[in-house]
Amino acid sequence: MAFETFFGNESLKNTILQLIRTRTLPHAIILEGEKGVGKRTFARLIAAGLLCKQAQAPCLECSICKNVLSANHPDVLYYETEKHTKDNFKIDTVRAIRDIAYISPNQAAYKVFILAEADLMNSAAQNALLKILEEPPAYAVFILLCEKKSAFLETILSRCALYRLERVSDALAFEAVRSLLSGPTEEEINKAIALAGGNIGMVLESLRGDETLRANEKAIEIAGAVLSSYEFDLLKVLGELESSGAKALLYALAEPLKNVFRDAVAIRCGGEALIRLNEDTAQKLAAALTKKQLFALIEVCEELKRRIQRNMNQKLLVTWLSAALTTAAEYE
Ligand SMILES: [Zn+2]
Repeated sequence: MAFETFFGNESLKNTILQLIRTRTLPHAIILEGEKGVGKRTFARLIAAGLLCKQAQAPCLECSICKNVLSANHPDVLYYETEKHTKDNFKIDTVRAIRDIAYISPNQAAYKVFILAEADLMNSAAQNALLKILEEPPAYAVFILLCEKKSAFLETILSRCALYRLERVSDALAFEAVRSLLSGPTEEEINKAIALAGGNIGMVLESLRGDETLRANEKAIEIAGAVLSSYEFDLLKVLGELESSGAKALLYALAEPLKNVFRDAVAIRCGGEALIRLNEDTAQKLAAALTKKQLFALIEVCEELKRRIQRNMNQKLLVTWLSAALTTAAEYE
């Protein structure tokens, strides 16, 4: 029943759950898989499974599970390289892990060490790690994440149980994305899956990139419509945001819209645009509006963010935004 928030990889999930529930999980695990398949998330689920005190661990509901999953549990330690490049998982980090490993857990029966990008250790770092893996404290569990297990020394491999996370089916990837993003259309999701396959992380990354692009474009459109002397232009641009499906887009465009107005203020004050999202629009705004008007427009963007967080009805929100932008631009 648990691990249901993780899509696909059913047989691996069952294997791991079985080991957790019978308290037979090996103390050192290598979790292999390409970038984007969810190694970090999966490692945290394993940690939650070890620490959760409910019968069906991990329950994902108790405070222990929540703290582990949000990276706020003192007995689940997470390490990541700074530069994500070869040899960047340093021997000093491994030594620090060793020192901490021999200090008993704070609250839990286990102390879990998640080593992201462990395959970026050079041989010296791996040999230092080997010393801990050879004589680990009874409560310690090490989860080594990697893209290719071949980067590890034989001696490390022989000390670890090896598991592999795979891509999921296209249908499952679709379901996963639908449950996580509200913005993209069915067509957009299918297009992203066609490119990234069942690699959910990659699909999400590409769609989030698209979403940012779309939010920026929309922000420029709105800023342009504010300049127009026809209120109809603004109503037309904002009208497309009235459907409840556009909620994510409206949220995403509040910041870039604010940045355009802020750049206009900078230009108005004789400075340069800072963000340069669209310098042309910022120049036009600076020429047409007073500083006071521009500050009022920035405040509308801030208020927009607050209202979205209060979960207002989308249609009312858009009506309010239209009136607020018009009033701010005419403010004297
Ligand atoms: Zn729990």
